[in-house]
Amino acid sequence: MTGTDTTSETASAPATHRYQADVRQILDLVTHSLYSDREIFLRELVSNASDALDRARFEGLKDQGLRPASPPEGQEPGIRVTVDEAARTVVIEDDGVGLTAAEAEKNLGTIAHSGTKAFRKALQEQKEHAGEKASEAHAADGLIGQFGVGFYSAFMVADRVVVESLSARPDQAAILWESEGGDGYTLTSGERTARGTRVTLHMRDDAEEFLDADRLREIVRKHSDFVPWPVRVGEERANQEQALWRRDPAEVTAEDYKGLYRHLGGDWQEPLAWLHARVEGNLSFDTVLFVPASRPWTMDRLDFKPALKLYQKRVKVLDSAEQLLPRYLRWVTGVVDSADVELNMSREILQQTPALKVIKKQLTKRVLERLKELTEQDREGYAKFWDQLGHILKEGIHEIAMDAGASADKDRLVPLLRFKTTTSHKATDVVERWRSLAQVKEAMGEGQDAIWYLADVDKERIGHSPLLEAFKKRGWEVLLLDDPVDEWVTMNLSEFDGVPLKSVAHGELPEAEEKGEEADPIAKAAKEQAAPLASFMEALLGESVAGVRLSSRLVDSPSVLVNQEGAMSANLERILRSANQEVPTSKRVLEINPEHPMVKTLARLNQEGKTGLEPFARLLLDHAAIAEGRLDDAEGFAKRLQALMEKAAGAL
Ligand code: ADP
Repeated sequence: MTGTDTTSETASAPATHRYQADVRQILDLVTHSLYSDREIFLRELVSNASDALDRARFEGLKDQGLRPASPPEGQEPGIRVTVDEAARTVVIEDDGVGLTAAEAEKNLGTIAHSGTKAFRKALQEQKEHAGEKASEAHAADGLIGQFGVGFYSAFMVADRVVVESLSARPDQAAILWESEGGDGYTLTSGERTARGTRVTLHMRDDAEEFLDADRLREIVRKHSDFVPWPVRVGEERANQEQALWRRDPAEVTAEDYKGLYRHLGGDWQEPLAWLHARVEGNLSFDTVLFVPASRPWTMDRLDFKPALKLYQKRVKVLDSAEQLLPRYLRWVTGVVDSADVELNMSREILQQTPALKVIKKQLTKRVLERLKELTEQDREGYAKFWDQLGHILKEGIHEIAMDAGASADKDRLVPLLRFKTTTSHKATDVVERWRSLAQVKEAMGEGQDAIWYLADVDKERIGHSPLLEAFKKRGWEVLLLDDPVDEWVTMNLSEFDGVPLKSVAHGELPEAEEKGEEADPIAKAAKEQAAPLASFMEALLGESVAGVRLSSRLVDSPSVLVNQEGAMSANLERILRSANQEVPTSKRVLEINPEHPMVKTLARLNQEGKTGLEPFARLLLDHAAIAEGRLDDAEGFAKRLQALMEKAAGAL
């Protein structure tokens, strides 16, 4: 095995290595620009130590032959932080799996997950986002852990770092890794005899403040309280005995929860809310779940995985147990700890475990209930959350429809939905912008027997659609659905609280029943006169449209295209096409406005038996197509327009 060869080589001969270019850049960034929140170095090193302990326990399950932990007399395995003021060092030591020479070279000399570029970019974005100094530090703070560059944060406070380690694997020798930051490190054989790793930080002159056990204890309490292994600073244990999620919720403070959220990573902002539940029964588990305040930046990563961690009695089993929640809740982070799962559970096995179903059902219910509470208790927070993550939550309507076991969740999800409407979409205030279906129902006008919606992914165009004219005139609020996922929502949501949901772009609109209008003799005459025009146009345009009829939805526009009842909407056709799916174009109905001056004139000329009306009839179709942003026959339109302009100019 080549790996072993390299190992023995590097371990026997003291060797100087250059860091991979990425690492040099990160080091430079970490030591020079991420200054302000230096105390997080301890969190990162403690977190690495904790992971190493987790891994030792996990691997010990499969392999009895590992070197056992040998903590100091009278202590259980864990993490020890010590300060030596005279030597100006801080030492972080653990009884974890340790590092082989090859691992040290790979893990402490390269960056495994993501490159510097991605890190830089994310950092830059956060800075632009935040603006102020304090938040910058916060941003960097979250990023360091996320990008797997936590170890290098040691160089924020130390100018020399020494790692002594002994792997738990009995065939591996002790190593000594040493670096002063800069370009590289040395790796030689070491003398450590106990399994685990000891990191010695030779503190920089400007990092004096950390040569103080009380200060370090305070940092551990702040950032690493929930680490599931004892973290001793000097003689005392500094972190909580009990995992946060196994404590009585009444005893856990908001700061504690925020600390856990930071620890879970994936978001550099404070969470919007959390829930803490202890479920007991046939299957018991403890859980703490978080709702982010806005879209966590990690969600933009291609390799995004929900940070939902599964533990078995405080031992981490999976880092991303995404199957424990439905897809539409993938922005939830948190911890689930259950005695009823297997320690050596893999994602694949989890998928087939009966416990999964029960836990998933419970978690989903609780998250949805917590969101419901938020809609009542923190309207602004919820509106901001919805603004960024609502489109994901909306996927749930479709996901639930596909999952027979989840139907009860629909009733929990529907009240959480928010929509922009004709009356709210221009509001600058985020709370006013997003309306619930209950609000829209409440505001229904006289004679209104449906909640109407218009779906169009063009955010600019949607508010100006001619399809809305009659509704605006009547003062009826219409939902404006400008998100592709909305098509799937409306497909699976045909009514709300006894009121049907209907598309303004489909079928025939019922005539207005407002008093007086029916009796309007002028309108009646206009209709009678326009009817033959519609028949004439239908004969003319039969190739392109399913029919031509008089419209009751228009006020200012002369014409509009609508879908036949039950047909796929033009919006959905467009969405599917942009996703490279083949969709047959369905013929649509052209509606003309009998009261529009131009239509009136054409109707009169038609009635008088005038010829030469074809270009005008076709232009009415062109007009409707342009209004919805898809003119198929642009060339024909240009010709017709030109001919018309010539005529008009001649008449000047
Ligand atoms: P991350 O922990 O995010 O992967 P780090 O830069 O913090 O990134 O650490 C790099 C790697 O070095 C870790 O993934 C781990 O494999 C190894 N490592 C760091 N600290 C320890 C430790 N105390 N014991 C064992 N391995 C460690």
